[in-house]
Amino acid sequence: MPEQISPQSATLRRWQDDFGWQGVDRLAYKQDATAPFLNVSRQTLFSHADLAGELRYFEVAAGGHTTLERHGHVHGVMVLRGHGRCLVGTQVDDIGELDLVTIPAWTWHQFRAATDAPLGFLCLVDSVRDRPVLPTPEDVAALRAHPQVAAFLES
Ligand code: MN
Repeated sequence: MPEQISPQSATLRRWQDDFGWQGVDRLAYKQDATAPFLNVSRQTLFSHADLAGELRYFEVAAGGHTTLERHGHVHGVMVLRGHGRCLVGTQVDDIGELDLVTIPAWTWHQFRAATDAPLGFLCLVDSVRDRPVLPTPEDVAALRAHPQVAAFLES
């Protein structure tokens, strides 16, 4: 029997192989041909009634990407594993281990793993937060007007 570990009460939950932690479920995002993300898993590392924030670990498999979205809450992101690129507003940057990325409110953003490596990152958010909004076709057209964004979205 594996030891039962409660994220709400345990003071120590150990790191396990392959970026897993005791008592933390790895949720594979459901995806189909229309899903706006590809090959992403999520683990909620800290979510507690006495914390105003949550810390999650997302992992994007090689060649995968997160949803292109924006929302009123802010993300604080730290890359833990692998490398890739991120879009923040109209800025595209290469990112790698231990880089820090801030996503301001109402800013389009997406993370893309390299084709030869996963991209794993911590993401800090408010516990109480608004739901993400997806881009309309007009939004996507406006983003694609920037050559570096168009190249990013097509990669
Ligand atoms: Mn987001």
